[in-house]
Amino acid sequence: MPYHCDFSPGQKIYLDNPGSITLITLVSAGVGQQQQSSTQVHTGPWTETPQIARVSNGVLLRCVAAQGTFFWQIQGMQIEAAPTTAWVADQATPMQATELAPSPIAPMPPMPPMAPMQMGDMQMSSNPMTLRMGKMTLGLGTPAVNTPKFCTQCGAAIAQGDRFCGSCGRQLP
Ligand SMILES: [Zn+2]
Repeated sequence: MPYHCDFSPGQKIYLDNPGSITLITLVSAGVGQQQQSSTQVHTGPWTETPQIARVSNGVLLRCVAAQGTFFWQIQGMQIEAAPTTAWVADQATPMQATELAPSPIAPMPPMPPMAPMQMGDMQMSSNPMTLRMGKMTLGLGTPAVNTPKFCTQCGAAIAQGDRFCGSCGRQLP
């Protein structure tokens, strides 16, 4: 189970215990970039929840593990072993368990904002489903049928292309 602590604005400490090592990772999220440094120490599995103590020049970590009690001092992005005498038990708090272990790969830069969709010259209609974009029309289903024509004089149906009404002989427009 990894542990983490926010120890200053934009800076986090992650502690993990994979196998028999203690992995300490510092992540500093500055403006526009992220720095990460980590240290591995062979400690054996932890036997207690790691503790953290704030001191005047940074923070101290304490891990009780199978191979003894380990102390580290963190200043900025530096992780160094600290002497036992540096530990201030009355300032110590247990670290918080976290699911958010840092990924070993640098995070992707944020995606640039997407350009707005060009929807200007586009129309959609249904029944029949058509999509018109500029001069192009996509249609689904039956193709559009020309509206049937009828003679304005006698009302007889007129075939497409006829120039005269087949019933009354009126000239068609
Ligand atoms: Zn007619």
